[in-house]
Amino acid sequence: MSRTTRLAGLIGFPVEHSLSPVFQQAAFDALCLDVRYELWSTSEDELPERVASLRDDRFIGANVTVPHKERAFTLMESVSDVARRAGAVNTIVKRDGALHGENTDVPGFLAPLQQRGFDLSRMNVVVLGAGGAARGVVVALQTAGCPHIVVANRTIERAERLAAALGGPLQTSGLGDTLISHIETAGLLVNATALGWQGDRLPLPETVLQTLPPTSLVYDLTYRETPLLRAATQLGYPTLDGLEMLVAQGAESFRLWTGQEPPYDIMLDAARTAAKAR
Ligand code: NAP
Repeated sequence: MSRTTRLAGLIGFPVEHSLSPVFQQAAFDALCLDVRYELWSTSEDELPERVASLRDDRFIGANVTVPHKERAFTLMESVSDVARRAGAVNTIVKRDGALHGENTDVPGFLAPLQQRGFDLSRMNVVVLGAGGAARGVVVALQTAGCPHIVVANRTIERAERLAAALGGPLQTSGLGDTLISHIETAGLLVNATALGWQGDRLPLPETVLQTLPPTSLVYDLTYRETPLLRAATQLGYPTLDGLEMLVAQGAESFRLWTGQEPPYDIMLDAARTAAKAR
């Protein structure tokens, strides 16, 4: 690294598992930009100092991941409208030396659907989960004009809080049989629970999953083959995992930091290769 090399990185805890350095570095290298993308493991206590350090001219910006997206929002000097609605910042950009918060998870979620020609303005959608990721998904679906969104969560009160915060055409449900009346008209089922990383459990009963119309897409934000994606494939549904979303949100961060068109295909290839090797 030379003295003129500039830095970007990922703020979170833990961050060691992240694929972001692989595909972000591939993008900087492809465009011959003298930037190094680093992992910045940061505890809750260290977060304000870490964020403040980005004001130094060496830094072009940062990504923020679990568990700091909501708190990072409160540490910005300005935030975009999308970040405000999502209540979370996953990308920090410098504007005249000041820290500006963006949320690229929102366009990142939509990008793979747009690439597949999905018309969300005509689609009923069921979102499983009511945490930070689910909130970003709902903001994205509302932005895309989705007419009917159901947020289904293990803890129904959390789904109700999310619906109250975002308003619009939102209904709530638990994850059991009450979900059937919503699932059977849905064109898209999104898993935004954290269950994809844990064991063999499905986020909803298989008997409920089976009531989804045959051509509806099952989209899991987890970027690996989850029990839900396996079950959906066995039942014949088209599926999509979270890798393309991960790369798309990173590509939008890259665009904001550099002002250049991100080399999306190079980023996706690098992420796919690294994900397969794990
Ligand atoms: P979070 O805020 O901690 O929320 C976790 C959600 O999972 C809650 O709705 C929770 O329900 C539910 N859940 C956890 N354990 C469960 C269980 N045993 N049974 C049923 N539901 C359970 O997490 P998050 O930040 O929203 O992240 C959720 C997922 O999205 C993670 O897997 C993350 O990797 C993924 N994600 C992917 C991308 C991408 O770029 N592909 C971006 C962002 C997030 P309760 O409310 O009942 O606890």
